[in-house]
Amino acid sequence: MTTENTGARALVVGAGICGLAASIALAGEGLEVELVERQTDIEALGSGITLIGPALRALRMLGVADECLAEGYGVTTFETVDVHGELASSFELPSPVGDDLPGMLGIMRPALHRVLLDQAYRSGATIRTRTRPTSLEVRPDAVDVTFDGGDRATYDLVVGADGLRSSVRELLFGPMPQRFLGQGCVRVTLPRPARVTGEIQYQPAGDVFVGFTPTSAQSMYMYCSFPLAEDCRPTPVEIVELVRRKTAPFAGLLDEVRDHMVDPGQVNLARFHTVLAPHPWSRGRAVIVGDAAHCPAPQLAAGAAMCLEDAVALGAEVAAAPSIEDALPAFSARRHDRCRFVVETSSLLSRWQTYPGSSDQDHERVTADAFAVLSEPF
Ligand SMILES: Cc1cc2nc3c(=O)[nH]c(=O)nc-3n(C[C@H](O)[C@H](O)[C@H](O)COP(=O)(O)OP(=O)(O)OC[C@H]3O[C@@H](n4cnc5c(N)ncnc54)[C@H](O)[C@@H]3O)c2cc1C
Repeated sequence: MTTENTGARALVVGAGICGLAASIALAGEGLEVELVERQTDIEALGSGITLIGPALRALRMLGVADECLAEGYGVTTFETVDVHGELASSFELPSPVGDDLPGMLGIMRPALHRVLLDQAYRSGATIRTRTRPTSLEVRPDAVDVTFDGGDRATYDLVVGADGLRSSVRELLFGPMPQRFLGQGCVRVTLPRPARVTGEIQYQPAGDVFVGFTPTSAQSMYMYCSFPLAEDCRPTPVEIVELVRRKTAPFAGLLDEVRDHMVDPGQVNLARFHTVLAPHPWSRGRAVIVGDAAHCPAPQLAAGAAMCLEDAVALGAEVAAAPSIEDALPAFSARRHDRCRFVVETSSLLSRWQTYPGSSDQDHERVTADAFAVLSEPF
């Protein structure tokens, strides 16, 4: 499709899920896309990720849903079990409205990254690694960028997809504090027992929360969340000991996989931070997207979905608007409330898990309601 913005020169900063997806979407609308990544390699941590239906819908719009479905494990049910492993309740995960996709997909992060990177190359984006911008000068009709190697270039559009601690956000809007939620989680890659065909979460044991997502015919991953000090930095061997200790109260499925929780190479520990930049997420022809603009806690497994939707929405707004300056506030207005809902709801669930006990805490209802909201068109 030819629009006013076809052929515009775009810089995307950061080759995470959002930067790769934004590159695909913008190149698909005829922009000339350059993607820069500060790391040497474009790769993702070797843990699993849970993609809810809206993420799959956006992946379909980006032309890669079938590849992701082939690489991962589609699920349609969400079961809650008690600490003994007995079924307490279950609900059907809603397909995204207007689509026939499964309500959820588990996939290993490196596989998702590979699919997105291949599609970014196929769509014509050029990619430079070991490169980061050090200054942005936003002019009325362009953005001048200086990179850490000293080279400079001028772009019609700059997209900051550089994550929670975004330097593009800081260059555009100044410092914006991230909120630490006092909670973190260990993720462990495990073999998949044949009976694990859907999402399974345990009812919490005190302030410890555990769940499983299948990621392929052979594999699944476990997430185990608990209160954590911000400066807690255990070694991989200590992380194995920690997760074995935290999961000790849980029986059933956990008893089946406990003996596999021994390899320090299969565990990682992450702390939960959030950030929500105020609307508009743009200044002139520069904009922030993904975790740089709205980083949720992982509780709803919706961070990647919001990144992928951002990418699709940004491409659509750029294609529809008479100018990039018009497209970016429209993009921010379209996305802000939905992403705020995810940040606020996931933070609430994190708080309930960290401070259990009050009678109004209904994790399953809040989670099911949120999935229903997010399955609506965006
Ligand atoms: C423990 C945990 C579990 C999660 N589980 C899920 C889940 O199951 N499902 C889900 O949907 N979401 C989940 N999320 C959230 C999801 O991972 C994120 O929302 C998503 O990965 C954010 O992608 P992004 O591309 O915006 O940022 P990032 O993944 O942070 O990518 C940013 C990229 O930019 C690069 N970069 C940074 N600064 C610069 C710079 N100055 N110049 C150039 N490059 C730069 C980085 O190296 C990186 O490659 C989870 C998050 C956590 C912490």
